[in-house]
Amino acid sequence: MAHKQLSAGDYVESRCTRCRTVTNHTIIAMVGDTPARVRCNTCASDHKYYPVRPAAPAKTAKTGGERAKRVGEPRSTSRSSAGADQEQWLRWSQEGVADQAIPYSMERAYAFRQAVNHPLFGLGMVTAVLPPNKVEILFAGGKKLLRCKT
Ligand SMILES: [Zn+2]
Repeated sequence: MAHKQLSAGDYVESRCTRCRTVTNHTIIAMVGDTPARVRCNTCASDHKYYPVRPAAPAKTAKTGGERAKRVGEPRSTSRSSAGADQEQWLRWSQEGVADQAIPYSMERAYAFRQAVNHPLFGLGMVTAVLPPNKVEILFAGGKKLLRCKT
């Protein structure tokens, strides 16, 4: 046996919902090989067993799964160009052109450097007009290819 089997009454490290940290817990109930309910030895509260995951960051939003993946990626050219896009957008948005922004619509024609207000992507600037019916707009979140009339 490589490691000893846990059973009710044993001590186990678990995250504690009340202490908000990892503390020693006494196992109250087991499900298979895994503790199901534990009692915190520090605050004496009973709760579900939360396994200790030292490798995980302290705060990981469930919806942020895709963004979290990007953190581990090596620096790539696409990433640095996205950063340049963002800088360009920031510089441009600080010129106060937001006042001149027109609402985005597929039924509209656009001019180069036209400020556009998109319901989903927010404030953007036309960086390229691509006939017959596409326009490239730089938003805070990056460049998007959108339909339009030209
Ligand atoms: Zn506790």
